[in-house]
Amino acid sequence: MKYNVTFKVGTLEASDKAYYEKMNPGYKCTGETLEERYEEEHGWEGGACTYVVMKGKWTRYGMCRDCGDHYVIARYSRYDRINKGTLELIRDVEDC
Ligand SMILES: [Zn+2]
Repeated sequence: MKYNVTFKVGTLEASDKAYYEKMNPGYKCTGETLEERYEEEHGWEGGACTYVVMKGKWTRYGMCRDCGDHYVIARYSRYDRINKGTLELIRDVEDC
């Protein structure tokens, strides 16, 4: 099935910052969240998940990392890049 994927940047609750930084030693919260919505092309199914954007050296599994002009999401078997300016998704990139 084909999915349409869209992204939206949000704000992390200040009170959640300490929790996420404790769960991810060596990483800092940027204060942003990245919501990913996906919908099957015929509208049969869809969903959303929200990532807390972290800053650090590399992208841990399940993490969304701020990498300058783009975000990197570590999926199960690949990394995806989301351009900050356009929120365009580029699948299967190197973590950088
Ligand atoms: Zn990068």
